[in-house]
Amino acid sequence: MKNILLITVDCLRYDHSRVIIDKINEVLGEGIEFENAYATGNFTGSSFPGILCSKFIDMPGEDMCYKLVPSINNEIVAQDQCFSIKNSRKRVYITEIIKNGYKSYAMTNNPYVETPEYMNTIDEIKSKYSKKKTINNRMDGIIKKISFKFPILYHMLRKEIRPFYRFIKDIFISKNINTPFLDAEKNSYIIKEIIDGSDQKKFIHAHYMDLHFPYYKNEYLELEIGESNILLVNSMYGDKQLKVDEKKEIIYKKAYKIQTEYVAEQVSKSLNEIKDKLDNSLIILTADHGELLGENNGGRGHGRMRNKKELELTLCEELLHVPLVIWGLGKGKVNKVVSLVDLSPTILDIIGMEKPSEWYGETLFSKTERPAISELRSNLGNFYTIRTQKWTLRYNEKENKKQLYTRGKEDKDLSNEKPEVVKEMMKLFEEHKKKKERQWKEMLKKEINEIKNKK
Ligand SMILES: [Zn+2]
Repeated sequence: MKNILLITVDCLRYDHSRVIIDKINEVLGEGIEFENAYATGNFTGSSFPGILCSKFIDMPGEDMCYKLVPSINNEIVAQDQCFSIKNSRKRVYITEIIKNGYKSYAMTNNPYVETPEYMNTIDEIKSKYSKKKTINNRMDGIIKKISFKFPILYHMLRKEIRPFYRFIKDIFISKNINTPFLDAEKNSYIIKEIIDGSDQKKFIHAHYMDLHFPYYKNEYLELEIGESNILLVNSMYGDKQLKVDEKKEIIYKKAYKIQTEYVAEQVSKSLNEIKDKLDNSLIILTADHGELLGENNGGRGHGRMRNKKELELTLCEELLHVPLVIWGLGKGKVNKVVSLVDLSPTILDIIGMEKPSEWYGETLFSKTERPAISELRSNLGNFYTIRTQKWTLRYNEKENKKQLYTRGKEDKDLSNEKPEVVKEMMKLFEEHKKKKERQWKEMLKKEINEIKNKK
């Protein structure tokens, strides 16, 4: 394979991904479409270890990434701590493995993807974040620090602080910088530039943030919904209002749709211009997680919970079912349930490189049927979903609560009617736990050997 282009679109749910897939199909022809692919986690920080390191976030010994604090009104304040995370156990990134053969580039555009560990493995970082810390980032950092130190106070003052914060940002920042990340147009242009460059084999990771809140002005959004509605949509996300009127709901969904079309347009435009240089290349499209657009009783966004009930619901279809298409290997549709934890092993398998022994996944093209498992690890308990072709089991480990659903239609709990299925699904979960433990031991063994060799 000459080049490998990994396109990840933040917040792109499966049922809204058609427009992007179709637009790329127009340029590259059809690829291999995995119709039932699931992310390992429902927010960026818990999903990318799956995509890039074939690993779940909660391996023993690894720091927690998510702290959930119950607060007034039984509301749950999510304080993600990905910024401060220091991995006590090293993750092995795909970019490390392919170093002998591929030059790597990243436009990752999201601090949760751009961990120092990942960036250390990249030859050329093209993102805005890494170039310089924008004022925007700095301000976000200060607010984050305050929220870590004084969570309850922060939560109580949030309603007052937020509008003020936004006001300050609007005055000083929005007018000077368009987005704190490279938008779809710039991201796609850089892909073109890199491919146009040297003849060396390349691995390019382009992460698109355009579907992620808050939305920033671009000509599409401004034209379709108007500037004032962009602000309205952003305020609906931040305040997590339970109920909004129908008109607002429509605008909210429209904004998401327009951003999806914007990404589709920009990606396909760039690919079209470099089409003849993409022979014998691998182009992959996927997402780290989806987005709630009013489901789960008015839920909007991802990784945000208002109460315990939502915490239980958060490993839902809308947030975990993601697109996964591979171009460059012919065309076809794969209906079986797969997990993104298998993506990096698949890439290595295609280019004929061996995967590290501590990786969890296998190639997506292996014949064995494996469940897709997603995890949310929090200080309020660990939550899991186990998905097979037919079923979804939700498992609240702390309370030993199990709910069984038909996969894809997760509204009616069938656990009382089908105890034998629950038992079967729990067996799969136990195997998963054992497998993770084996991976961890494998990793430890390597670390010990490394230390021995140094001596
Ligand atoms: Zn994300």
